[in-house]
Amino acid sequence: MVHRLAGLLALALVAAACITGERPVLVDETVPTEDSTSAVTIGDQAGVGEESAETVPTDSLPLSEPDPSLPARALITPTGVVVPVLETTDEHYAITTPCGGTSTLVWGTPIRTATVAIDPGHGGDESGAVGPNGLKESDLNLDVARRMARILEREGISVVLTRTADYRVPLAVRAEIGNRLESEIMISIHHNAPNGADSTEPGTEVFVQSGSAESARLGGLIQEEVVNALSLFEDIEWTTANGAGAIAVLNSDGEDAYGMIRRPEMPAVLAELGYLSNPSEAALFLTEDYRNVAAQAMADAVVRWLETDDPGSGFEDDRTFNPSGGTGGSIGCVDPALE
Ligand SMILES: [Zn+2]
Repeated sequence: MVHRLAGLLALALVAAACITGERPVLVDETVPTEDSTSAVTIGDQAGVGEESAETVPTDSLPLSEPDPSLPARALITPTGVVVPVLETTDEHYAITTPCGGTSTLVWGTPIRTATVAIDPGHGGDESGAVGPNGLKESDLNLDVARRMARILEREGISVVLTRTADYRVPLAVRAEIGNRLESEIMISIHHNAPNGADSTEPGTEVFVQSGSAESARLGGLIQEEVVNALSLFEDIEWTTANGAGAIAVLNSDGEDAYGMIRRPEMPAVLAELGYLSNPSEAALFLTEDYRNVAAQAMADAVVRWLETDDPGSGFEDDRTFNPSGGTGGSIGCVDPALE
């Protein structure tokens, strides 16, 4: 396959440490670190004006590295938070904070490119759905996103996560991360509520951009891969909504209804993998098996989108829906520590 290693260094999953002395950034603390050998250590101080030293384990040396002349378009802060970079000066990075404010940082690991932006839905005080077993959608989305990112990284596809821990990020900032990085695609990961009707197969829904054939193709591929993969789990009492599938959802003004579909400037989709509100599915979602299978299915769809012209399947007619709002904004948002 074509290796898409440019930007691999940017991946927010690896342990990144600045050799110039600040403490290591450990972004991914809760999942197995089978990729720890690919950890790349880059020191980068904004504007020092000289090449920063870097240490790359020889067993994982990327075949190609991001062009160091590319500007830093996002930054992994010393606390492991990914933020958009507005400007790099001799003294600092000007950044958008997770809550959408502006600030400056002297230290961080620059991200120059990322083919795929993965957006783990919700976070912080906005947990999203909560399963009857107490599982929070924000935690589940993040774990599946991390696993998906790790799989893509192994395929040589560079990835950025719009959220790396349990903090709130308004939709505008999530989209800005992908937009500044000029990612080829953006994928929001969610789990659904409330329950639909009983179903013999997963009630996966993938929302696509109404005006984009490539968003539709990505949505169809994710729908196909996820439904096929999850259908292999036995004894699950699935639920579904009427007309579930790869669909465009428009508000009554005829615009794409969801912010994470409307805001990204590239083909984007939002996947509701299953129903966290359903006890049978919520129990499944607690398992490592589910999280690995879901992540692999999503990654397989991305690879097919990048490397084939496969059309995908599971398309349904457009739906009209007016989101009531209330979450995804910046009011009341508290930034996590950035350094
Ligand atoms: Zn959600």
